[in-house]
Amino acid sequence: MAKRYFSSSDEEDLATDSKHAPLKSKTKRKPTGHWSQGLLKSMENPDTVVKSDEKCVMINDMYPKARHHYLILPRENISGISSLGKQNLELLHHLLKFGQDYVKTEHSNDDTLIPDYPQFKYGYHAIPSMNRLHMHVISCDFDSPSLKNKKHWNSFTTDFFIDAARLIKMVEEKGRVVIDKEYYESLLKKNLSCHVCRREQRNMPTLKSHIRTHFKK
Ligand code: AMP
Ligand code: ZN
Repeated sequence: MAKRYFSSSDEEDLATDSKHAPLKSKTKRKPTGHWSQGLLKSMENPDTVVKSDEKCVMINDMYPKARHHYLILPRENISGISSLGKQNLELLHHLLKFGQDYVKTEHSNDDTLIPDYPQFKYGYHAIPSMNRLHMHVISCDFDSPSLKNKKHWNSFTTDFFIDAARLIKMVEEKGRVVIDKEYYESLLKKNLSCHVCRREQRNMPTLKSHIRTHFKK
């Protein structure tokens, strides 16, 4: 997790707090409370946890990039998608089903979403910023003040977002997840385009007002 791809100001604040704290010892160990460990703290915070079972914990994303945005983490200490192997296939299926079941129960009557378009996405960032494997469960309105820049947008609306089912297939076929960093980094730099109609948009404010035209309300 050397490089950070998400630097919305609020996340950056969180990062700099611990990044610039003086190190007490000369060892190069990451200090406790390093921003990249934030999800582990949230997993233990009853105010953040939405639902859990013996295998995983679902939390609210602290900087939601849509009206509904959750993260599902395994209790098992798996650092990220690049540590996955065939031994984790059952868990990956479980995380997906856990998210889908939650959405079915809690959001099946939402009337704020986009007609004739998937209501939610389930998947993983190709190059995650945060430690511990986490699957995003996010509503496809992408209507949120925390969604601030091109990197945020492209991380959820291009192939940088690896659908959970696709990731499972990768592990089934190759036994692991192989990430071409250069390719995925280039996706974050793509021009802004609407995820529903694919029309290109000049900037974030234009994009934000354009996507509202697809909403039922
Ligand atoms: P990524 O590592 O790119 O897959 O995404 C990490 C996600 O974690 C982002 O959507 C952040 O908004 C979210 N996030 C960052 N810090 C926290 C935290 N302490 N608790 C919950 N969510 C967080
Ligand atoms: Zn559109």
